[in-house]
Amino acid sequence: MELFETIQASKHEQVVFCNNTDVGLKAIIAIHNTTLGPALGGLRMWPYGSEQEALDDVLRLSRGMTYKAAVSGLNLGGGKAVIIGDPRKDKSEALFRALGKFIDTLSGRYITAEDVGIDVNDMEFIFQETNNVVGVHQVHGGSGDPSPFTAFGTVQGIRAALQHKFGDEDVGKYSFAVQGAGHVGYHLVRLLREEGAKVFVTDINQSAIDACVELGAESVPLDDIYDVEADVFSPCALGAVINENTLPRFKFKVVAGAANNQLANDEAGNDLAARGILYAPDYAVNAGGLMNVSIEFEGYSEERAYRMSRTIYYNVGRIFKIADRDGIPSWQASDRMAEERIEILGKLKMPYMGKPHRFPGRERNSG
Ligand code: NAD
Repeated sequence: MELFETIQASKHEQVVFCNNTDVGLKAIIAIHNTTLGPALGGLRMWPYGSEQEALDDVLRLSRGMTYKAAVSGLNLGGGKAVIIGDPRKDKSEALFRALGKFIDTLSGRYITAEDVGIDVNDMEFIFQETNNVVGVHQVHGGSGDPSPFTAFGTVQGIRAALQHKFGDEDVGKYSFAVQGAGHVGYHLVRLLREEGAKVFVTDINQSAIDACVELGAESVPLDDIYDVEADVFSPCALGAVINENTLPRFKFKVVAGAANNQLANDEAGNDLAARGILYAPDYAVNAGGLMNVSIEFEGYSEERAYRMSRTIYYNVGRIFKIADRDGIPSWQASDRMAEERIEILGKLKMPYMGKPHRFPGRERNSG
């Protein structure tokens, strides 16, 4: 496909190719949609096999951010940036500062954050060149590790799903199969156990499992997680874990977890619905991390972050209502809810607020 055809197909507003040969920077910034606000999304550094692969990734991810922000009630658009390079050997101060300068030229249309391959030290270099960055170190007023908020938000999404499925959202009455006990998974297990829930957990990392067993969770072998007789499956590790191979094994009634892109494809989402398994869409459930960084704009407050993360309960509840209203699976209802919000708010015309004249001339009382 021609470049413009590709961009038009995904309805992107702007795609910026950033090149600085001296520092070895090859980066792409994709701004998908800014109807609701500045395009916010992380920066990823990855040794892409080709430039096309990098472009496809940044287009896909930035579009996903538009939907996540919209469905979460945030006044943010969707964007993302990728650096083509190996994070283990191609990082330098100059590389990140060069990208920071490019981000600054966008005057706040794109706001960056950490993603795969990027750490807080890299963000520090970007922050030297632009203010349009969130997730900087706490000494600069940053919000720190988002995982506890993502886990807290995930519990809100789980509660909404339990309420819709069983008419009782008391987490402690149910059993859970948690796949992945990393940054988010560990905090999720902790919160579920605090409510007295029965929790099964698996991970490729034994020490991550041990930490959850200490909280009272029961460890299961890696592949057995799909066969566990639990009410809720909570993917918190990899994407595409709901697919034609795993689905027939499910005895779960609800799927609600923090992992991104849980559905291998749309058919997997349709199949879940057909089997009567309620799916709480991943990008609505795991928005606590995005909510947490978004608060940095107005001055970070942990209390506000928790308050905002509680709205996930209502967002996920509304998705289920739209699914019922329109007779569609929840993954589709989530997209529809995001699109409806963008469409209706995009039509809002604020009353003219008055602006100072561009050439003000003499001041009225200047004599
Ligand atoms: P993480 O890397 O800290 O944790 C992932 C865990 O999954 C690790 O402990 C890893 O050992 C385990 N794992 C890997 N392969 C596995 C397998 N085959 N089976 C079982 N466990 C396996 O990552 P995280 O920050 O906890 O994020 C988890 C998921 O949530 C990711 O999909 C991420 O994109 C998504 N997410 C995270 C945040 C956040 O705030 N960190 C926000 C939104 C979405």
